[in-house]
Amino acid sequence: MELYSYTLHELQEMLRKGEVTSKDITMSVFKRIKEVEGCIGAFITLMKERALEQADMADIRIRKGEIDSLTGIPIAIKDNMCIQGVRTTCGSKILENYVPPYDGTVIKRLKEQSPVFVGKTNMDEFAMGSSTEASYFGITHNPWDRERVPGGSSGGSASAVCADECIAALGSDTGGSIRQPAACCGIVGLKPTYGRVSRFGLVAFASSLDQIGPMTKDVKDCAILLSVISGYDSLDSTSVNSKAVDYERALKGDIKDIKIGIPKEYFEKGGIDRCVERSIFNAKSELERLGATFVEVSLPHSEFAIATYYLIAPAEASSNLARYDGVKYGYRSSKAKKLKGMYTRTRSEGFGQEVKRRIMLGTYALSAGYYDAYYKKASQVRTLIKRDFDYAFRECDLLLTPTIPNPAFKIGEKIDDPLQMYLFDVFTVPANLTGIPAISVPCGFSKEGLPIGLQLLARHFEEEMLLKVAYAFEQHTSFHLKKPIIKKEES
Ligand code: GLN
Repeated sequence: MELYSYTLHELQEMLRKGEVTSKDITMSVFKRIKEVEGCIGAFITLMKERALEQADMADIRIRKGEIDSLTGIPIAIKDNMCIQGVRTTCGSKILENYVPPYDGTVIKRLKEQSPVFVGKTNMDEFAMGSSTEASYFGITHNPWDRERVPGGSSGGSASAVCADECIAALGSDTGGSIRQPAACCGIVGLKPTYGRVSRFGLVAFASSLDQIGPMTKDVKDCAILLSVISGYDSLDSTSVNSKAVDYERALKGDIKDIKIGIPKEYFEKGGIDRCVERSIFNAKSELERLGATFVEVSLPHSEFAIATYYLIAPAEASSNLARYDGVKYGYRSSKAKKLKGMYTRTRSEGFGQEVKRRIMLGTYALSAGYYDAYYKKASQVRTLIKRDFDYAFRECDLLLTPTIPNPAFKIGEKIDDPLQMYLFDVFTVPANLTGIPAISVPCGFSKEGLPIGLQLLARHFEEEMLLKVAYAFEQHTSFHLKKPIIKKEES
């Protein structure tokens, strides 16, 4: 078995025992990238030279016995998180040449453990999208089927993990962008509770919804990575001051006393693909066999989640993206002579179609005269949706749903139909609107061989319970062990 195909925790063990070096692992990962990146397109920026230096540094640390959980492990970072001195594009022309002068907090935390940064991964521009087709830097392909999308917006990170182009990755999730591509690519993705992980140094999309989280090959890796990135940060005013948790410890134990709710509205309308429904019910049976009990719960405002999200997210985005005016950051159009024209030209030339659409929708929803009808109303409905979840969690500890209504769709299928694209987020946006944690784990394959994801949601700050149940499920199934066969081509 090649080193690149191991999990983080397996490699950690091998490094601890001195069986391999970080240099060996890093070279193996870059060999893999050379073979498959040409047909996947997971990265915007590769950092090979720096990575090999970091591997050497990690090996020095390891030889001295200073080994942490991520020391020497090759990790990929979604290109909306700032690494000092490394171009951070956010998938946009407007930030094509932006090099941040500082590290985001998650990067700082990772660096304390001396990992190896493989590169920055592709994403929908400003994380707006569900397919990674809306990047200025080209599309990313799904490793299970090149003709299909990897999901989005963290599709680069998902594909990179799935295709063994890194050992683990970070993504960001505003309405599903970690869980949804994780489901499409057959990996594990977790959106932490809002406030659990610092957003400092994450390029802002919709600040009341954005969270950074792990994307990994299995649940144990997910727990390890979450332990490193979570915790209080004074640089993020919404960061929550809670004790550091070792999530790996939470994996142990049975799930006998755990009560899981199934939201009846999700299965009533018939919007779920047959194979997805079948896999979810098989997963339910498996969890039942492991001792979990199930109840039906109701989330009566579910049908408004997409509309609510697609008002709040663009509203916040229109405000956050006002900073890209050609003065402070990134691209500046040289075509206009006067200041106002420069602003207009810069934004017209620098932003892609979907980003412009969101800025216009968001500005409209916030404008005087429409604010009450749109933004305020959406905020009120958001509260109703949150209450639904509060009530549901009185009857159960976790909720179980599909992550995506159908497996990865074909490239080009939805990109010209934004409403269809938005509907793909139907099961993921509620966790962001309510701030609760949610995980996606592989739970089956369609008859075309495409991965299917199971979503578990918990009360605020109950990531431990999520990970425990996800781990128990994973230990008794083998979906996470299956790998795609990728047509190799030298790039
Ligand atoms: N697909 C959703 C959107 O386009 C979610 C994106 C995300 O989570 N970053 O807004």
